[in-house]
Amino acid sequence: MLPAVASGDQPGMKRPIASCFLLDMDGVLYHGDRALPGAREFLDAVSDHPHLFLTNNPWRPPEEVARRLSEMGLGEVPPERILTTAEATARWLSREKPGFRYFAVGGHGLHRALAEVGTEDPEQADFVVVGEGPGLDFDSLTTGINLVLSRGARLVATNPDLTVDGWHEGKHRVLPGCGALVAPFEVATEREAVVIGKPEPLLYQMAMERLATTPEACIMVGDRPDTDIAGAARLGMRTALVRTGRFPPGAPWPDPLPRPDWDVTSLEALIGAFREAGVLRR
Ligand SMILES: [Mg+2]
Repeated sequence: MLPAVASGDQPGMKRPIASCFLLDMDGVLYHGDRALPGAREFLDAVSDHPHLFLTNNPWRPPEEVARRLSEMGLGEVPPERILTTAEATARWLSREKPGFRYFAVGGHGLHRALAEVGTEDPEQADFVVVGEGPGLDFDSLTTGINLVLSRGARLVATNPDLTVDGWHEGKHRVLPGCGALVAPFEVATEREAVVIGKPEPLLYQMAMERLATTPEACIMVGDRPDTDIAGAARLGMRTALVRTGRFPPGAPWPDPLPRPDWDVTSLEALIGAFREAGVLRR
């Protein structure tokens, strides 16, 4: 028997909590190429619930992300449970303009997602799309800014992160994020890019569509107050901060960002807190 919530219900009506989990990955489930303690147990605990893995990183397609999770011992995650900002961007663009033409700068995951629903066209693009990974140089910047300034193409950024953790030339390094890579286009064109990833609403909205759910039923689990938590809270989701990534234990809350419903230092602690709150079935 599931516990019931009263908020928003008519008097006398009980509806079961149907918690859906939106899970950030880097800094929550793994760091570098190592699973974080409790990650496997946490995924087992939420496996009975609708859930989706959300990443601001557009670089790798869902199949590669799933393979990585498997290699880290986190089980077999179906690629359709992984929503990257590359896919979310492609879907948003095809809604804005079905059959769109684009010019993209970024890694292969972005190019693949866009090619599935649009046509690459550096001469007559409707959108200049900037993601993460290789691709930014003098030529691509020149092509992109001319499309914006001369053709009126819209500038789109997959995500706002200024830096990301990743691998470069065999070393774990801080890499430039999309926020840094799109900046030269914004500066040169004096246009602001449309941003798809967290904390902007579009990625969360597409996640909810995929799960056929509402903000009230969702719990976002993330490691960053400014993206994972802030964006979800603004949409009315419940939020859980795990201080295992970018935001360490003991760090003071960065006011005025909305505070999470759960603030823990490990996934083991989060499992306990979720069970205590009655949001987990087992
Ligand atoms: Mg993270």
